[in-house]
Parts: sequence; structure tokens; C-alpha cells
Amino acid sequence: MSIVELQIRHDFGRFALDVKASSEGPVLGIFGPSGSGKSTILNAIAGFMHPQHAHLSIRTRTVCRTPGGTVVPPHRREVGYVTQDALLFPHLGVRGNLAFSPRCLGLDSLGGKRILEVLRLGPLLERPVQELSGGEKQRVALGRALLSQPQLLLLDEPMSALDARLAREVLALLLEIKRTLQIPMLLVSHEESEMAALADDCILLENGRVVAQGPPLQILARPGRLGGFDNILRLEVARHEAERGITWLALPGQQQLAMPLATAAVGQAVSVGIHADEIILCRQRPDGLSARNAVRCLVDSVSEAGTDSLVRLKVGEVRLFVHVTHAAVEELGLKPEGDVVAIIKSNSVVRLQV
Ligand code: ADP
Ligand code: MG
Repeated sequence: MSIVELQIRHDFGRFALDVKASSEGPVLGIFGPSGSGKSTILNAIAGFMHPQHAHLSIRTRTVCRTPGGTVVPPHRREVGYVTQDALLFPHLGVRGNLAFSPRCLGLDSLGGKRILEVLRLGPLLERPVQELSGGEKQRVALGRALLSQPQLLLLDEPMSALDARLAREVLALLLEIKRTLQIPMLLVSHEESEMAALADDCILLENGRVVAQGPPLQILARPGRLGGFDNILRLEVARHEAERGITWLALPGQQQLAMPLATAAVGQAVSVGIHADEIILCRQRPDGLSARNAVRCLVDSVSEAGTDSLVRLKVGEVRLFVHVTHAAVEELGLKPEGDVVAIIKSNSVVRLQV
């Protein structure tokens, strides 16, 4: 079933939007430079702007046909909207913000509890919103949107106001929402790695027009740095450890790589991305390690890359790129064919949609 069908033509004078697209989802990404019309599309779907010519359907229900047809008011469109800055009501606490929508699921209902659990909102319920960190505010905004029982979640750069660590945390939550709550989403982002991790289908927007649509890695592909990830690996699922929330992928030489629990059958190949700066190198496997992965590798090559060194590692035929400082190259004695252990947190291994 299509999650969204868009046909919008609108002329602001200095800027004209003319887009036509549809998607089966479950997550459609809208990628494009600043000013290309991304937010305007979400505003039109949410009902906050009225395009001169439009035919908009959400899960096959027409919510806007102009000129002259149906225009469903925003509060009846059954969409959840989350923007860059959480836009919480300052006079209400977390609980009040969450319960704001007239269609809000009870916080004590089964579905309500599930949402609070996925977003870890329980401990925040009685807090005033002014005291929350940026990441906590975004969790509340996501909770409020999800509790309103939306047919479609609209996400307008939901991670762009957060620092890198919080942005990754929110990305992990969105992946969890996608996996467990199965709500279709429309994600606006200019961050390639977010797109590649979350979107199944992606449109590329330029100056108000759709210039390409397809799987994110195909749309965003640039030689050497696919989808913003330095490392793209295609590995087979070896086993799942559901109770620990981990899926193990098979690496050459009887080694395995842990990633967050994935919906894929054992034996199925999946693509994952790892940022080069999220890999730590050690001479030996350290004791008492919290990261799940300590992968034994051989150094393939070491080269200078600006202020850092780029180290290419090999695990059988699998290659891993890692950024380290020049000092670390010296200290670890990294040289071709030397042994080294790569430490990678399972959360840094991100499933990519290909
Ligand atoms: P993006 O989200 O991709 O950065 P926007 O959709 O916010 O881009 O804006 C696209 C263009 O539309 C911009 O040039 C912006 O100035 C223009 N625009 C958006 N809303 C209005 C409006 N209400 N009146 C006039 N121009 C607008
Ligand atoms: Mg915008």
C-alpha cells in the first residue's frame, strides 16, 4: 500500500514547487539542499500550507485536492509532525505535552506504555520541559507525535539541532520505532548517513523539483563514501540473540560482528555502514570491554589523510577503513601485515537499506 502520494504545484513568486512522487515506504526520505522545498512539502501534507494545485493522499486517503476539492483540516489528517526544534509547550510538563493531542492514546494503555518504553520517557514524565536536554526534548516530541496514533509520521530534520552523539541516539530510536511500532515515516534530512540508515526509498529534490527517486544508496552514492559511511559491508546474518537485542554477522575466519537486532533471516546478507572515526584500534583485545566487538584484523595499508592517518584493515576479504592520529600510528606500531584489534560498539554498526 502506498504510504503517501504527492502531487504539488505552488508558486511563491521567487520559488516554485512542482513535485510528483509516491512511495510504498515504510520510510520515504526527502533529501535535498537547503531551500529546495523539503519543509514546504511536509507543511502541505500536514495541512499547514495550502498549495495552489495539489493532490495529496496519506495511505490512500485523499487529504487535499485543490483547487476545488477536499481539504481536510490539519487535526484530521492523522499525521504526527516532529521538527528540528521540538516545539514543546513550555507551560506544560512532559506528561502534559505528551497528552496534548485530543486523539492521544492513554499513557497507561498497552500501546501508550509501549511508546513510553521505546522512547524511555517514563523517568521524564513529571519533569518541566525547560529542564530537558535537546535529546530529551526530541524524545518527548516523538512521543507526543506517536501517542496521537498517526497514520504517517512527518520528520523534518529531527536530528539536525542535536550534537553528533544525541543525533545518533535519536536515530537509533527512530530505527527502533520503525522496527517495533511499524509507523510509516516521511523523513527530511540533509544527512546522508541518516537517510541511508532509515529510508527505504528516497527522493532527491533540487530547486523545488524531484530529480531522482530510488533506494538511498543509489540516490546518494558517491564513489568512496557511500551514503556518508566510510565503511559499507555486506555480511551474512550468523545468528540472532533477541534477549540481548543483538544480531551477529559472519566475518571471515570464524569471527562475528554484533549489530542491533535486525529483522533478517539467518543466512541472509545485509548491508551495514560504520563511520571510520567510530572504530578504535588496540594492540590486543582489552579486558572488561563494554563494546561488543573486538575484531582481529591485519593492517593492509597506512596513508596520510590531512591531520589524521587513514588505516586500511583486512579481515579476510573484508576491508575496514579507520581514522587515527599520526601519534596513534606510531604508538601502536601500525605497519602493513601487522596485527591489530578493532573495537566497534554494536550501535555503531548501522543497517543500511539497499
Ligand atoms: P527546505 O526545507 O528544503 O530548506 P523550504 O521548503 O523551507 O526549503 O523552502 C523552499 C523555498 O520556499 C524557500 O526559498 C523559501 O523561501 C520559500 N518559501 C517557503 N514558504 C514560503 C512562504 N510562505 N512564502 C514565500 N516563500 C516561501
Ligand atoms: Mg526545511
